[in-house]
Amino acid sequence: MSQKKRIAIIPGDGIGREVIPEAVKVITASGAAVEIATFDWSAERFLADAVTVPPDGFAMLGREFDAILVGAFGDPRVPSNIHAKEILLGMRFKMDLYANVRPVRLLDASLCPLKGIEPKDIDFVVIRENTEGVYVDAGGIFKQGTVDEVAIQEDINTRKGVERAVRYAFDYCERHHKQDGSPRKRVLLCDKSNAMTYSGGLWQRVFKEVAREYPQITAEHMYVDALCMQMVRDPRQFDVIVTNNMFGDIITDLAAGLQGGLGMAASGNIHPGKTSMFEPVHGSAPPIAGKNVANPVGAILTAAMMLAHLGMVMEAGKIEASVLEAVRQKKTTQDIGGVLGTREAGDWVAEHCG
Ligand code: ATP
Repeated sequence: MSQKKRIAIIPGDGIGREVIPEAVKVITASGAAVEIATFDWSAERFLADAVTVPPDGFAMLGREFDAILVGAFGDPRVPSNIHAKEILLGMRFKMDLYANVRPVRLLDASLCPLKGIEPKDIDFVVIRENTEGVYVDAGGIFKQGTVDEVAIQEDINTRKGVERAVRYAFDYCERHHKQDGSPRKRVLLCDKSNAMTYSGGLWQRVFKEVAREYPQITAEHMYVDALCMQMVRDPRQFDVIVTNNMFGDIITDLAAGLQGGLGMAASGNIHPGKTSMFEPVHGSAPPIAGKNVANPVGAILTAAMMLAHLGMVMEAGKIEASVLEAVRQKKTTQDIGGVLGTREAGDWVAEHCG
């Protein structure tokens, strides 16, 4: 039987179709033992045959693959974004990928818009609950189009959903080190429990309970609005942050800004023991799509994260080292100070990670 890990690749739309081939190029160059199958789930496919996800699609991914690498979804020709919802949220919800892990690392001081910040100062991770909250699309509209219109968007938080996300954050803190080799030590709950008392109250109670099982880890709390301010004033203070679906979405865009922009940020959608999905934080970026200008670093670091998750730690390390060197030498796209195109930036990383 083959020892190779099976990877499903879904480039999707827009710049996803440009950055994912670069990530695949780099995976191959790293020598990782993988078998790759590519799927065309995208706006293009939806416009051609009205299929978003083929029947049995998610079950097939879970059955036949060890991991999934996804680009981005969103295309102006599908204004409803229905395919993006069905594919991306479908994968997160139906495959129950409950922990969205978003590492926030500064690779080079020149990329950070803050004064006096060095790479050692920004090295934290956000664990975002990925299957509940306001993104489950529960609610409705009443008297639409009239002056009496009512819109309700429910914020769903289950005991089970909150507990497993919080527990994942503490386990992550226990198992992972910072880039400088020092242990992670603190988990911070980010919520808005002073205003959202019911859902926030549940998060608070569960967080305190779970924290008691990890006496060696310091448990902390910050309201989301204060956290946004602190992230800009002093990002050194963060280690592991756990939060709900929407706050996680928002604070990781802010965090991407600290890393040099959306093109730099990686993420994994994880259910321990099941087929997990990895995607760069950025979207399909229609204004820059098809121009060979998109930064492939986020997608390449996402691929490294996937390999590490699959146990290929050495290959992941080689890729990360090559990306770091590319950033230092400015062998990159324009958004982070280089002059290369997407393909050429991918080539450079691939050539230096063997
Ligand atoms: P989504 O809601 O689908 O996540 P978004 O609204 O957050 O998408 P993106 O599509 O991620 O938006 O991109 C917003 C802008 O950020 C782009 O138009 C582009 O200017 C910039 N951007 C995003 N990703 C990249 C990248 N990989 N390289 C360079 N610029 C990028």
